[in-house]
Amino acid sequence: MSVEAPAPAALPQSRHLATELPGPKAQELLTRQQAVVPSGVASLMPTFAVRADGGIVEDVDGNRLIDLGSGIAVTSVGASAERVLTGVQEQIRQFTHTCFMVTPYEGYVAVAERLAELTPVPGPARTALFNSGAEAVENAVKVARTYTGKTAVAAFDHAYHGRTTLTMGLTAKSVPYKRGFGPFAPEIYRVSGSYPFRDGLSGDEAADRAIDQLEKQIGADALAAVIMEPIQGEGGFIVPARGFLKRITQWCRENGVVFIADEIQTGFARTGQWFASEHEGIEPDIITTAKGIAGGMPLSAVTGRAEIMDAAHPGGLGGTYGGNPVACAAALGSIQTMAEERLAERAVELERLAVEHLEAAQQQDPRIGEMRGRGAMLAFELVDPETKAPDAALTAAAAAAARAQGVITLTCGTYGNVIRLLPPLTISDELFTEGLTIITEALKEA
Ligand SMILES: *Cc1c(COP(=O)(O)O)cnc(C)c1O
Repeated sequence: MSVEAPAPAALPQSRHLATELPGPKAQELLTRQQAVVPSGVASLMPTFAVRADGGIVEDVDGNRLIDLGSGIAVTSVGASAERVLTGVQEQIRQFTHTCFMVTPYEGYVAVAERLAELTPVPGPARTALFNSGAEAVENAVKVARTYTGKTAVAAFDHAYHGRTTLTMGLTAKSVPYKRGFGPFAPEIYRVSGSYPFRDGLSGDEAADRAIDQLEKQIGADALAAVIMEPIQGEGGFIVPARGFLKRITQWCRENGVVFIADEIQTGFARTGQWFASEHEGIEPDIITTAKGIAGGMPLSAVTGRAEIMDAAHPGGLGGTYGGNPVACAAALGSIQTMAEERLAERAVELERLAVEHLEAAQQQDPRIGEMRGRGAMLAFELVDPETKAPDAALTAAAAAAARAQGVITLTCGTYGNVIRLLPPLTISDELFTEGLTIITEALKEA
């Protein structure tokens, strides 16, 4: 006989500040953290979570914060989504782990089936599962190298692909991701991308420039893969000019180069489509996913054309935990939630709300240089109105003021001058609007 714990009361979907941040209990935990966790692992919010659901994160002191970050685009279905919870509980009752390389189980195969259906990879697709985004990127590169028999990999300006040795090399920004952590992996090249607000180039012009660099500085005969985020996340939510991605993927296909779309941040309904590649009508050879895939459980995937994925020899891909059954159950619950609750459409509704709000703010405040993004992956860049010079100090001050008022506010950008919005897709209109208002008011006062 089992005694069920009583279901916790629903988390009220309203902002509430019971104390300043950090409150007394959070302060105690901060002191404990500082004694045992290295300062290299830095936390944005000066508090500690105890519960989260919908658009709210509740802290140890009873403060309820508006979540505009989703744990960096992870809890798109919310942090306590019913189908994720049920899937996880049922799986844990059966078993927690066998290792797919030892005794396989259905959940892994089911996730691969869903990804074959949902991703815009052309033709039959195969999926290998891993734990983190960086691990997915590493494996995508391994597969592209063994398939092509070539070694060079090209990544773009403003790219972010992770923090392991190989992926640090692919990542563009030095501080905080790379400085002091080298040497980096060889045979990685960086080429210019498309950043319409700063380079003023059309998609074709930017693609011509990039292709010229690919041909002159590397050469297709040496190049195994080109990797790009369809919307660059950490780099500043940079949406390449229309046509850029299409031209790059065409060039790759014509030249025997594997095109990898890193959709770790843009994937899973976040941008208003299942995958951001769909907005540009591109069909990547390989897509890497993680973050939003499993409602907060650690899981990542490499989905690619069968011919490419099958190039790796049997036993060549894997890892002890990759595609853990509990994480797979969470992914199936999360994907089902997105489909049944039409969360891609919800992302478009959130976009409309935010665009309306931010356009009004922009008319009054020329320091908002550009608003951009897609769906519930939106951002605005803060600049000197005369020169367009990035204003990182203003960005940091506005974000800190919004956080102090209980709004989880993330920044990004190569120049640290972008405020980004990544709400759970299950946030209410009211909470989202309140969060936006607090951020734009904080900006006015900064
Ligand atoms: C977050 C991110 C990664 C790295 O994912 P981790 O799970 O943190 O290793 C890679 N690529 C993109 C586009 C990301 O946003």
